[in-house]
Amino acid sequence: MIPPIARRFVAGESVPELLDHVRACNADDVAVIANLLGEHYDDPSAAREDVDTYLTLIDDIADSGLDACVSVKPSQIGLDVSADLFEDNYREIVAHAHDRDAFVWCDMEGADTTDATLDAFESIAEEYPWSVGQCLQSNLMRTHEDLDRLVDVPGKIRLVKGAYDEPASIAYTDRSRVDEAYREDLRLLFERRDRGVAVGSHDPAMIALADRLAQEHGTDYEVQMLMGVREDAQRDLAAQGVDVVQYAPFGDKWLSYFYRRVRERKENLRFALRAVVGR
Ligand code: FAD
Repeated sequence: MIPPIARRFVAGESVPELLDHVRACNADDVAVIANLLGEHYDDPSAAREDVDTYLTLIDDIADSGLDACVSVKPSQIGLDVSADLFEDNYREIVAHAHDRDAFVWCDMEGADTTDATLDAFESIAEEYPWSVGQCLQSNLMRTHEDLDRLVDVPGKIRLVKGAYDEPASIAYTDRSRVDEAYREDLRLLFERRDRGVAVGSHDPAMIALADRLAQEHGTDYEVQMLMGVREDAQRDLAAQGVDVVQYAPFGDKWLSYFYRRVRERKENLRFALRAVVGR
């Protein structure tokens, strides 16, 4: 049983609970990205179990006609075992989604996983165009170049500020520098792409900038926010006609999700608490 403090951020432990949550969001014109909680499996059978759940979930979503897609984590589907296992599992999930006219996102984890994640994304997106999307983190100094590399790849790109505490040798650690990098990366995306831009941020300044850039360049975009955070803004933006997608984690590993969020970055604890008390 998920306690109310966690229930605000987690859509339930089971697929039926998740689908109920998707139905409620869809009623407000908010789509959902469903993420089965789980990460850092060093056992291939644990990764397999989650791959199977995703395959079934894709069927459930396609059969229900709900406006939802899924998001996987590299270390959940095999990256901690090997890059090959990860790419095979990732490809299998996307191939199935492609058959079912569904969509798969891939989250981005720590910087030691960026190369393997982007290599897999690039190859899979070329094979299954516009069935897959990749998250990139603006706090990493390399990201501007990664975006340049990926700009013509036929997959969506979700830009986030970055949730992982990375060393100053490879990442911007100052919040205002991260914001500046996020703005630069947004500009690159809107200037160079005409579709497939996802703004993964709760920051009103970044969302306003995205809106201006979209109008300037005629680029299609969506705003993505986490379940339990600024949900009023999610509904308001959707009512204004913006494509809004809520990232909703679910599953029985909800406790470790919270521990990890808190451990990764002190700000994430403040962030979660701010959401709980409604600021
Ligand atoms: P922040 O810099 O945290 O906040 C900026 C401003 O936003 C605040 O000043 C305030 O005005 C507003 N704001 C923020 N929170 C609230 C609140 N609770 N209530 C009201 N206003 C608020 N990170 C990864 O590293 N990898 C991923 O794969 C990944 N996927 C993500 C997917 C989605 C859909 C989202 C939304 C985030 C994801 N993240 C991921 C997390 C991301 O990297 C950031 O850590 C997180 O989103 C916080 O940054 P922010 O841009 O939302 O704004």
